[in-house]
Amino acid sequence: MNENTHNYEQSLQAELATLRSDFLGELKASPNEFTHNLANTLELNPPNKWLDIVMEKINPEQFPLYDRLMKVEAALCQMEIGQFGYCCDCEQTIELELLEQDPATQRCRSCKTKALKNGDMQQK
Ligand SMILES: [Zn+2]
Repeated sequence: MNENTHNYEQSLQAELATLRSDFLGELKASPNEFTHNLANTLELNPPNKWLDIVMEKINPEQFPLYDRLMKVEAALCQMEIGQFGYCCDCEQTIELELLEQDPATQRCRSCKTKALKNGDMQQK
């Protein structure tokens, strides 16, 4: 597990760097003045403060990169405190297979299925 976690950490760190620059680019490219100004604010701040700044100001559904950024940062934070690999809903260990697919995954298989079903219901 530890060796795997190290590999996951490296791939998440790499993804994080890309995500941050892509996300900033996306905000900058927005025709919306508010979003555009937000990008300017972010540039003046260290990237580890971005989520705090952006939080509740934009809709994650409109910005998939932001959504992903939150997940990746959460996973890295969990690694730091030794809580990586546990489901955020039931606190059981997440199946290794799911972590292999996406180290930033936050839910075990059964909770993920439940969450997806609930999401569907809310949308319809
Ligand atoms: Zn679970």
